[in-house]
Amino acid sequence: MFYLLWLFISVGYAQDICVDCIDPLRESFGASTNLGLDQIAQIAACNPPAVGSSIKHDQRGNTENKIPNDSRYVLRHPSEKQWEVEFNARFTATAGVTEQQAVALRQRTEACFAQAAPSMAGPGENMLRLKLRPSSGGAGPTAPLIEINVIPSGRGNATNFAATFDCPTIIHEFLHHAGLCDEYPETNPGEVVNASSCRPIVPSNSIMSQDMINMYDRTVGATKECLFPENSAWRTMPSGHLEIAMAKSAQDLAREPAHRRAFDEGWCTHHNIAPASGNPLIENHSARFSDQPRGWRMHYPASNIANPTGGPLLYRLGCQCPVNNADCTAEIATLKTTMTAFYNSPQKNYGCPYGIIPTVPQTIAMEPGFVDDRANGRVIVRSPPSGISLLHPAHFSRLLRGSCRSQDSKNWYDVCARYAYRHSEPDGLNGNCASVPAECRDPRTYLGGDPVSIPR
Ligand SMILES: [Zn+2]
Repeated sequence: MFYLLWLFISVGYAQDICVDCIDPLRESFGASTNLGLDQIAQIAACNPPAVGSSIKHDQRGNTENKIPNDSRYVLRHPSEKQWEVEFNARFTATAGVTEQQAVALRQRTEACFAQAAPSMAGPGENMLRLKLRPSSGGAGPTAPLIEINVIPSGRGNATNFAATFDCPTIIHEFLHHAGLCDEYPETNPGEVVNASSCRPIVPSNSIMSQDMINMYDRTVGATKECLFPENSAWRTMPSGHLEIAMAKSAQDLAREPAHRRAFDEGWCTHHNIAPASGNPLIENHSARFSDQPRGWRMHYPASNIANPTGGPLLYRLGCQCPVNNADCTAEIATLKTTMTAFYNSPQKNYGCPYGIIPTVPQTIAMEPGFVDDRANGRVIVRSPPSGISLLHPAHFSRLLRGSCRSQDSKNWYDVCARYAYRHSEPDGLNGNCASVPAECRDPRTYLGGDPVSIPR
């Protein structure tokens, strides 16, 4: 991606690897009875803070302390399952940026942290929140000062934030200050030596990978702004029709792999029908269900693909099983349950209508839904959050663990992340990545599995 962290980093070797030695979410003092003195000392130094207390992490990524990235924050433990990672950041305007823009970027950072907080979950129903230390100070230890230059626009990095940075980028960059490494293929010529081939790559679905913006959007339920050009037919369309055009519909669900069989077998069919007096066009995003022998039907409106701004069409999805076909009966019952739940859900999934590219508005405090603001030439939509964590289990554990175990990396995240940068293993050798363990090429091993579901 474009937002690189320029660090002068180097790392050491892990001589022996055990993936579950001192994982803070899985290990406790009482679990191991025959620890050596070194290990006991290390656990004492690295054990996450008890409830009500905090620990300051202040390690720079460099040769001496053998960690691939900085860890500069205070970890607080306000209650049993709640953790806070607090940064002490100072945002300073540089040439071409006003003081107000620097203040606004700090405020956006606070808003992004708040937006992401309900989606930052780890193993064992633990939750984590990123925070900025208030300018007025606060209780407990003070995190190391992180100087952030605010630059006008374009490419930035962990200490040079563009005034235009969006939430996924802001969070990605702050996670660098908490010790997490990049997971995308390196394209920067200054970093490409070693890193392009040695860095363990996570192709998608990680806040540290090239897919970070999509991953963030899906996870938190991103707010998008659909701007309509002057004289656009979208501007004068009835509101109910516009909402139909912007909402995910039964057509989208029918295309999902889980529901393909019912259509491939010919049990269900799908087409648009002419509205008639007995079957009028539905004027809002909803569906009418009815029964038929050995099956069911639904009518619903959806966009006319051939003429999207011309208003919706009425569609009919009908499912009917052959006699004595239990597979079909089960399949179409499931499909009906899915469709019914989808159309009864108070939370719709919206996107911009056909041909309108979404933009990300600065206003992010909004419940999932649809705001018709065409008086100002726009509609704002927010999809519901996915219910899956923004962090992978290994990310979460790394934030709780800090880098204090740098002398003795015993988990795959620390072992693999050390290959992430130019000065990473093998230091100074062009593209010789023979020492990267094969396990680091498996994202699920590297990141400790898939992100967990958000506890209810
Ligand atoms: Zn990065």
